[in-house]
Formats: sequence, structure tokens, C-alpha cells
Amino acid sequence: MSAATKNDVVRLRPGDALLIVDVQNDFLPEGALPVPDGDRVIGPLNRYIERFTEVGLPVFATRDWHPPDHCSFQAQGGPWPPHCVAGTTGAQFPSDLKLPSTATIVSKGTRPDEEAYSGFKGTSLEHLLREAGVDRLFVGGLATDYCVRNTVLDALERGFDVFLLVDAVRAVDVRPGDGQRAVREMLERGARPLDLHQLDASPRGDDTSSLRK
Ligand SMILES: [Zn+2]
Repeated sequence: MSAATKNDVVRLRPGDALLIVDVQNDFLPEGALPVPDGDRVIGPLNRYIERFTEVGLPVFATRDWHPPDHCSFQAQGGPWPPHCVAGTTGAQFPSDLKLPSTATIVSKGTRPDEEAYSGFKGTSLEHLLREAGVDRLFVGGLATDYCVRNTVLDALERGFDVFLLVDAVRAVDVRPGDGQRAVREMLERGARPLDLHQLDASPRGDDTSSLRK
């Protein structure tokens, strides 16, 4: 990415939505399937939530919501320990994640035989976004190399403009470098990197520019 791209300021506008991927207790350091430093996304995400909600833009959150015999669990021959079983504490959003009461929650991987890294797979997420008039998605959460990656790539394929919130994602890194490779892949496919400092959500931004005339 060029220095110019990195410093670009993005102003929030109608059609924007924040999409928080799988920030759930089981993916935090004390959880059943911990993402290293996974809890570090919560602070930045709370700031993004503030920015979006103060200008009336929608917030969406996906969650793994598995049955106890889900195909991704090792007992069923899958790669992962049991995690995010529907209704358990591990599947809940952490209490310090300040999801607004208006947030739209999308559950995925809800059937025993279907894995869903992407928030779009087997869910109504696309329909909900279209219904809300969303065309630009700002995506952060867990984990960079699995559910964030697959959600971002699916969003791009469906024609959404995607900003990857680089300060609000963390990787599992089963193989060292998986997270960095996933970021590279998302950017190559058209996602744009963004951090909090580049986000201008000032509701009076337009007034300021008209004053300067
Ligand atoms: Zn899962």
C-alpha cells in the first residue's frame, strides 16, 4: 500500500455499516479456542462502534453459533476444539464489547453439518445489508485468517466496498504468517486498509468545509 493510501481520510456517509466478526468469549485468551491477543480488538472496536452510532450508521455482528455436535469440532473429525456452542457463555459477546442495542446479530454455523467461516454463508447477512441500503462495509474482529478473511472475500465478491479495520483484527496464525498472508490476500482482492485515525465521522465535517468557502 502506498503512503498516500495509508493517510487517506475516509468520511462516513449513508450506506456505510460496521461489521464485527465473531468477537466472542471463546475466541478471547481465556476461551476454548483463543486467538492470541484476541481481546485487543475490543478497545478499537468500541471506538468504531461509537463513531458509527453517533452518526446513526448501522452495526452488524456475526457470531459462531454451533450445535454441540458441530462438524468443525475434533470429536466429529473437524480441526477445532468445541467452541461457541449456542447458548453457552463461550458463545456470548464479551461484556466489555459495547454493542449497541440496535446492532443486528447474525448467527452462523448453526447446523451440525455446515461450517461457516464467512458471515455470508448460510445466513441472511447479504439480504439484511441490502435492505439497510449498505454498500460500504467496515470489517473488524476475529480471526483475520479465518472468519474475517472469508467474510471480507465474500463481501467483495458480492460487490460491497470493503474497508479492513487493520487495528481491530487479530489472527490465529496456526502457521506463522497466516494472518499477514490473509491481509495481503484481502487487499489484493480489493479491500482497503483503514485504521481509526483515518476515520472522519465528524457530523459537522460538511459545515466546516462550507465555512471555508
Ligand atoms: Zn466455529
